[in-house]
Amino acid sequence: MEEHALAIGSGLASLAKDLGKYGADVVHVADSPELELFHPDYYRQIALDLARKISPSIILLPATSSGKDLAPRLAIHMNTGVATECLQLELQNDEFVATRPAYAGKVLIKVNIKGTPKIATLRPNVFTSRELSPPKNPNVERLQFNSPATRMNVKDFVSHGSRKLDLTEASIIISGGRGMGGPDNYKILEELANVMGGVVGASRASVDAGWRPHSDQVGQTGKTVSPTLYIACGISGAIQHRVGMINSKIIVAINKDPEAPIFGFADYGIVGDVFEVIPALTREMTKFYGKN
Ligand SMILES: Cc1cc2nc3c(=O)[nH]c(=O)nc-3n(C[C@H](O)[C@H](O)[C@H](O)COP(=O)(O)OP(=O)(O)OC[C@H]3O[C@@H](n4cnc5c(N)ncnc54)[C@H](O)[C@@H]3O)c2cc1C
Repeated sequence: MEEHALAIGSGLASLAKDLGKYGADVVHVADSPELELFHPDYYRQIALDLARKISPSIILLPATSSGKDLAPRLAIHMNTGVATECLQLELQNDEFVATRPAYAGKVLIKVNIKGTPKIATLRPNVFTSRELSPPKNPNVERLQFNSPATRMNVKDFVSHGSRKLDLTEASIIISGGRGMGGPDNYKILEELANVMGGVVGASRASVDAGWRPHSDQVGQTGKTVSPTLYIACGISGAIQHRVGMINSKIIVAINKDPEAPIFGFADYGIVGDVFEVIPALTREMTKFYGKN
């Protein structure tokens, strides 16, 4: 099976060859200043033209904001199905089967896409990239970009607050709950996140209290996250919180109540006061990451 990669953006032509390290036999590059920001119509047209030209059997996209926007646009134009937020992909008797969460993560379902190509978006951090040794030496094909007619004008991307990375894409999340005691105390979580290169999340109790914005909320009525590491600080582990973070690779819980439900599903538990444990963790992580 031949693997093709599509790279869309501005100033990325020199990076195209690097995709050979991750298995690409052919890299198609659409490189133009107009493509610097994700534009739903431009990106869709480029991906669609390429898909029609090379007729892939499977199209994989990341389940990031732009991937989740692009996948259904492609599916509708190609009259096929799309499985979103996939956690696992398999070929069963030549059938493409994707495993994805449903009902806010309470169950995992197996989806068989009818139609060709099969389109799937993959949860960030679930499928990690692996370098091939030796790397492939892909053919790089430049795509001509002729902007299609559009009624959209993308002027800028404005991130909410100072956060650079969305929770759904972060590989390390430090989340705080009611046990943080107030909005100012999140500073210690920000410090730890800063040292570890993570972002801060929150439970609904702290969002409802007005301590954190709703964009930070993890759970049934917030975001579904899948980081490599999720550190829950002063969070009890209610089912509605759990469904939003249970697909984290490693869950660490810090709670002063040894009976807190979160210890029932955390990989590591620290029974203690967040105001003692977090600063100690930040000190150790600072040493570990070699920061001052
Ligand atoms: C329809 C519906 C949707 C919901 N959606 C969501 C959702 O999306 N996300 C979500 O999170 N919740 C959601 N909830 C709310 C959920 O049921 C819980 O109420 C909420 O998750 C509790 O938040 P918490 O764990 O921060 O607070 P609590 O349950 O009050 O837990 C606080 C924890 O902090 C510990 N603690 C206190 N002080 C300290 C300290 N100094 N050091 C260490 N530990 C300490 C306590 O022991 C306790 O376990 C939803 C509820 C409903 C009904």
